[in-house]
Amino acid sequence: MREVEQGTLRGGGGPPDDCEPPEAAARRHVLEAEQAAGGTLEGARDVRRVGVVGAGTMGAGIALTCAQSELEVEIVDAGAEALRAGIARIESTLDSAVKKGRLTAQTAAAARSRVRSSLRLEVLSEADLIIEAVFEDAGIKQDLFARLGSIARPGALLATNTSTLDVEAIARASGRPGDVVGMHFFSPAHLMRLIEIVRTSRSSAEALTTALATAQRLGKLGVVVGNGFGFVGNRMLYAYGRERELMLLEGAEPERIDRVLEAFGMAMGPNAVSDLAGIEVGVAARRQWRERPDDPRWYRVSELLVERGRLGRKSGCGFYRYTGAERRLESDPEVHELILVEARRLGIVRREVANEEITERCMLALINEGARVLEEGIAEAGADIDVIWCNGYGFPRARGGPMFYADTLGLAWVLERIGHYAREQGERYWTAAPLLARLARQRGRLAEWRRAPGGGKP
Ligand code: NAD
Repeated sequence: MREVEQGTLRGGGGPPDDCEPPEAAARRHVLEAEQAAGGTLEGARDVRRVGVVGAGTMGAGIALTCAQSELEVEIVDAGAEALRAGIARIESTLDSAVKKGRLTAQTAAAARSRVRSSLRLEVLSEADLIIEAVFEDAGIKQDLFARLGSIARPGALLATNTSTLDVEAIARASGRPGDVVGMHFFSPAHLMRLIEIVRTSRSSAEALTTALATAQRLGKLGVVVGNGFGFVGNRMLYAYGRERELMLLEGAEPERIDRVLEAFGMAMGPNAVSDLAGIEVGVAARRQWRERPDDPRWYRVSELLVERGRLGRKSGCGFYRYTGAERRLESDPEVHELILVEARRLGIVRREVANEEITERCMLALINEGARVLEEGIAEAGADIDVIWCNGYGFPRARGGPMFYADTLGLAWVLERIGHYAREQGERYWTAAPLLARLARQRGRLAEWRRAPGGGKP
């Protein structure tokens, strides 16, 4: 991928202050975008007591982060064993923070004392905010919100932590959609700073402000996003991951893809990330996407790994294998072989995929999908996308987030390279987003693009 030289940005405009080195301008952009993302918090309802439903990975992490921010938490699960395990996870996370010297024993004990637990949803009748983190299943979530709608006190905010499901339908099921928003935390919830706050057509302004104020109270960054499959972050991730998966079949090894993208600055390569999150989590989520492409190559390697029981780190193998007590990551020739056989079966001609192509295809796919997400109103501003990617997906702050990065490359050049891949790979995935094409013509900037108040296009 074209590198932006120190201090000589060209093409789409460059940073506002031409004397500022690109890295400093990029970092400043992310910082300012983070400050702007919260918006005004006037009118937020007071939140002191929080209910968390679901004591799994996310529920336990969310309960912990609330307790550490001096909120009273009641955690509810349908299963006694799951509830016990969730509480044990909260305790062991606090213990380990004390052992590492990150918390005093007293602070940890105080946080622990703020967490209560129950098997009965009715205990949440006095909560100011209820955050749902049960299984990713539309039916289960809608049933739960129908119950929460009548249990929660008037004025309580109801939030779902779904990563992909239709928040509008969940809100409708509650019978009080004005009180419902998405609060999409990232894993591990007590450490990750980002929360995508999902607005539906019925969410009240007060509910959104309360969710933003709660994010701030938790020491996190809330970014308001629209209600579309995968919201902003995961929707863009699917485009980025699509190119990685295609290149695996075309001839790039998983470890080289990871190495190249880490050299670009991503906190972790995408294959290692999938292994960490659990490959089956993404596979299951993407199967629910109605608009997924009808393409046998699409995320085929992930599907194949899951079919073989290779779920990632938790099962000891995924894109890599994990050995020893500390589960050291190693290349796995079995994976290379699996991919090779599958590529042959699909009639894909294997070739040498250059490092530069790996970066370009992943980044251009990310940028183009970002422009679509903006145009559809799922993201309100290009800068919000940059905040989301730098805080939730390990995009390098030194490059300012995908939208800022696109601007530094020059949108005309981005467009030209998308055209190049359309000729090489076909137009299916390589049609430029209309917004990108328009801004390239007008010499506009993606990172500065913001939806006009009231939803119209500026
Ligand atoms: P999990 O399977 O670890 O935990 C879910 C918990 O919900 C279980 O303990 C289960 O007993 C409980 N539960 C199920 N139905 C219930 C009900 N009706 N009432 C009360 N409790 C019930 O799941 P998770 O990974 O923590 O994910 C929870 C939610 O968070 C999902 O919507 C998921 O998409 C979302 N999410 C997950 C991640 C992640 O990385 N794991 C990240 C962001 C968002």
